[in-house]
Amino acid sequence: HIPDIRQYQEWLSTEGIDVVRVTYPDLIGTDRARDVLVDHLPSACAHGLAFCKAVYHTTPQGDVVPVAGGLEAGLPDISVRPDLSTLAALPWEPGVATCLGEVTDPATGGPAPESPRDLLRTVLARCAEHGLRPVIGPELEYFLLAPAPGAPAGWCRASETTGSVYTAGLRADPENHLLRTLRQLRDLGIGAVTGNHEFDGGQYEINLTHSEALDAADRAFRFKSAVKELARQEGNLATFMAKPFTDAGGSGFHLHLSCEDADGRNAFDDPSGAYGLSATARHAIAGVLAHAPALAALANPTINSFKRFGPDTLAPWLIDWGLDNRSAMVRIPPERGSGARLELRLGDASANPYLLIAGTIAAALLGVQAGEEPPTPLEGYGYDTARSAVLPMTLPAALDALEADTELTDVLGKDFTTSFLTYKRDEAERFGRHVTDWEFTEYAYHL
Ligand code: GLU
Ligand code: MG
Ligand code: MG
Repeated sequence: HIPDIRQYQEWLSTEGIDVVRVTYPDLIGTDRARDVLVDHLPSACAHGLAFCKAVYHTTPQGDVVPVAGGLEAGLPDISVRPDLSTLAALPWEPGVATCLGEVTDPATGGPAPESPRDLLRTVLARCAEHGLRPVIGPELEYFLLAPAPGAPAGWCRASETTGSVYTAGLRADPENHLLRTLRQLRDLGIGAVTGNHEFDGGQYEINLTHSEALDAADRAFRFKSAVKELARQEGNLATFMAKPFTDAGGSGFHLHLSCEDADGRNAFDDPSGAYGLSATARHAIAGVLAHAPALAALANPTINSFKRFGPDTLAPWLIDWGLDNRSAMVRIPPERGSGARLELRLGDASANPYLLIAGTIAAALLGVQAGEEPPTPLEGYGYDTARSAVLPMTLPAALDALEADTELTDVLGKDFTTSFLTYKRDEAERFGRHVTDWEFTEYAYHL
């Protein structure tokens, strides 16, 4: 389908746009883009833009890491076609608009197996077969860092103020970063609703409104790039890594999930059902818990992710659910009716929004298909390892759990799973060979 660029011409010239940034999420969820001069947009729409089929690390070294069929095949092209229906002017960069790109594999003419957007579409098509339309509300936390030439990595927290959760204004945010960010996000039109200071100095949370799952994933993806870009404008660095500091909490990516039925009603609500939840909701909870070890590979996709978990962190590594209990992996917020939903608290901010959302929905759908009831909900303090099963606690263990969960990988597809495992096992192996500062401090002096 070639979009008719003429229908966007008027908007482009009224807004004074001369460059369109065509962006797509790679396998890891990093935004990859080309800036296209507007005069060349018709050709980009007709032929697609060529990108190299690989996943790149955005590190100072800028490593390239193979995905299956990438490096071995000589790094062939993927083709990215602007989706002009997603055009939005960048509020902080006059003359520039951004839009998402549709990824195709020129070798087949079909979707690229590593395209996370297409993976989510596949999972949503499965849900549609069951008359379900998933609705997602994303909540993301991140740290704002300021340059600190003396600090180990050259960055420190922008504000070291601690104990400032829900503190608004200059006391917790001396530079008014949050207000500026919220307003810019509103102008970008990605459904930001509220922002607050989190538990740790320099840590913020912004909640996005709920919507149909692909739209919500697109917005969460664009949110992360926008926040990073705005921070760079201020000379700062916004990071969504899971646990940037040993002595501060991690950053979560909580996901609110409900489902509309064919009549547009919330299929998770049932005033006469157990806990005021429908059988569909309870089966979805059971599915998410049953597949949690595999889901961790998508929700907690880095070596660093597993350092976020621990007692009293509000970041759950025990596989359980609870009614309005923030220590549970799956929390059921108190609202019912159209607001009946589950909140999966497992994911951390480093997760690729498309993969976290696709994996969660796939697990919930498998639960609905299996029709099993969840165990009794957690009550009270939730960090008792004697009560609940524990997640795989390292990236390699989570990757093994994903590979072993053939029910889930059948839904996600063999090509995606192979690429993801190849990429992530390479990451784990590189880390395994790396000598860390901790080892030197721990061993060098007395051994
Ligand atoms: N920072 C916590 C996490 O890593 C969540 C804190 C909260 O509940 O807002 O998930
Ligand atoms: Mg929070
Ligand atoms: Mg939350």
